[in-house]
Amino acid sequence: MPLLAANWKMYKGLRETGEFCAAFRSPAGVDAVVCPPFVSLSTAVGSGHTVFAQNVHWADEGAFTGEVSAPMLLELGVAGAIVGHSERRRYFGETDDTVRLRVEAALAAGLRVIACVGELEDERERGETEEVLRRQVSVLSRHDALVVAYEPGWAIGTGKTATPEQAREAHAFIKSLLDTPVLYGGSVKPENAEELLAQPGVDGALVGGASLDVESFTAICRAAAANP
Ligand code: PEP
Repeated sequence: MPLLAANWKMYKGLRETGEFCAAFRSPAGVDAVVCPPFVSLSTAVGSGHTVFAQNVHWADEGAFTGEVSAPMLLELGVAGAIVGHSERRRYFGETDDTVRLRVEAALAAGLRVIACVGELEDERERGETEEVLRRQVSVLSRHDALVVAYEPGWAIGTGKTATPEQAREAHAFIKSLLDTPVLYGGSVKPENAEELLAQPGVDGALVGGASLDVESFTAICRAAAANP
């Protein structure tokens, strides 16, 4: 079943999270999850939707100001976490090593994980896409609760989308390294979702901007349901 994850980034406090969750009805045939900011997780969990956090620390507890652990998320009823999003790598010093630590701890604790990989624009221009993906995927190991999200850095929040061929090629390459479902992320919208989700090897989508609106996220989920 395709996985559709709504990554709200630093949008939607309690009120907007409650409004979205009350209005959203997941179409049949998709595994739809919402990923609100930490402060809004409990509201989303209470709504009955599947809820993932946007990050998770590797220790169960400790002196790690600003971080949240897997046991804390599980206690809240959170089902999974995004790890290694390109914004975490770009703005908050996330590295392949910290991604590995977070992913391993989250899976061991019983969370599902969406681990993000993807090249930056200059890396693609220099012909380094495969090298970057190989390095990022090398810290991951196959696990039933793990999916990878391929998010070309140049397509995130920019309105630029990978062509269906670029997505197909990158997904095939990732799957040649690790036998795992691979989501596509990068300016997915209702207008391009059907074509992207129809590509072989595209097992769902990680959606940022277009997931903030109930109707547009629902339309993307419907496009995925049409391409099981
Ligand atoms: C994301 O946040 O994972 C993402 C893909 O963002 P956007 O859809 O806005 O490009």
